Amino acid sequence: MSTILGAIADDFTGATDLAGLLARSGARVSLRIGVPEGPVEDAAPFEVIALKIRTAPVADAVAQARAAQAWLAQAGAKRFFWKYCSTFDSTAQGNIGPVAEALMEATGARQTIYCPAFPENGRTIFMGNLFVGQVPLGESPMKDHPLTPMRDSNLMRLLAPQVTRDVGLIDRLTVARGADALRDALARSAPHVVVDAVADSDLYVIAEACRDAVLMTGGSAVAMPLPDLYRAVGLLQDGDATAAWRAADGPALVLSGSCSAMTQAQVSRYAAANPSYQLDPLALVQDGVQPVLDWLAAQSGAPMIYATAAPELVRAAQDKLGRDKAGAVVEDALGQIAIAARDTGTRRFVVAGGESSGAVTQALGVTRLDIGPEIAPGVPWCAASSDGNGIALALKSGNFGTEDFFATALERLQR
Ligand code: ADP
Repeated sequence: MSTILGAIADDFTGATDLAGLLARSGARVSLRIGVPEGPVEDAAPFEVIALKIRTAPVADAVAQARAAQAWLAQAGAKRFFWKYCSTFDSTAQGNIGPVAEALMEATGARQTIYCPAFPENGRTIFMGNLFVGQVPLGESPMKDHPLTPMRDSNLMRLLAPQVTRDVGLIDRLTVARGADALRDALARSAPHVVVDAVADSDLYVIAEACRDAVLMTGGSAVAMPLPDLYRAVGLLQDGDATAAWRAADGPALVLSGSCSAMTQAQVSRYAAANPSYQLDPLALVQDGVQPVLDWLAAQSGAPMIYATAAPELVRAAQDKLGRDKAGAVVEDALGQIAIAARDTGTRRFVVAGGESSGAVTQALGVTRLDIGPEIAPGVPWCAASSDGNGIALALKSGNFGTEDFFATALERLQR
């Protein structure tokens, strides 16, 4: 099968988010971690390549995005999507514009849109200004982000210093007039066009108007209508791939390396009813993971191993080991535990934490995820292969899911 839409995401959880939304349509979606090496094998109609380039130096980000685009083109893609965060995370030296221009050049696109809106998550764009809930981006908590502080809310002003050609705006009043009006406006607009969207209905209009665009850029939400639009014109002819999706059979393990508020609640909820073991970074430095593996071998059911801890405990570990070392010790332990669990028969893994998920997938040697049913918005079950074994992975970034997420995720596979 040939790829219809090839997407490039600037980070891992952004890629899972996009892949999950595309899979809501029932279409087959495959997520590759990094640019695959070697020739294209078994391409899905929707291919998403997860890069890690949000804050990479521009030249590096552009080179990786070009390599990803070349692979996707080989897979058959003639339409491309550049996915970044719905809060437009970037600095004036950021990568969103340069990568978009590089992709325009590589694909021959004359124009591209910029639409990071995600109304379901409170991200809307009006008159080119991005809002987070009811406040402008530049007044939201994003203004203090450690890596990409967003102090301006105007997408044209944010984008202009990042690109070499003109930036335009198509506002909500035009979008509200429908896909034909939007197409006309696009034909008259600049090479880089910010497009307003305040509701899902706007995103449908935009996706319809851009259905045949060579390149679109934005958050994940504007891509969500594309599978059904492709079906309507006969581009996509598939059965319900998520219904055919099968999870690997076998024991389950919950691993949590996230200390986000929602994960704290999820961990205490799950620990109340299941065997659980709290990792201590200092003990890991001293004794390694063997004591944890001995504990795990004696458990039945679906145990949980977690480093999740209250802020004062995290600080105590960081004071002794340094912040990076403390994080690395935990991530390394989660990876080793995952490998040992796999080797003793575990086939279903629920992992909490963006970085932690990256560490576990890397340790398991996973390079490709086949997207299955959605557990919570932005978190699908994924099928993968690890050392020749079929496994199922649910990878959740910090604040995703509700309190009962871990149990819900495992129940979802039983159905
Ligand atoms: P989130 O998605 O919530 O941000 P991540 O996995 O991305 O979660 O990041 C959490 C980071 O905190 C990881 O690097 C992890 O190793 C580290 N960490 C987890 N538990 C502890 C702990 N008890 N002490 C110190 N660092 C920890």
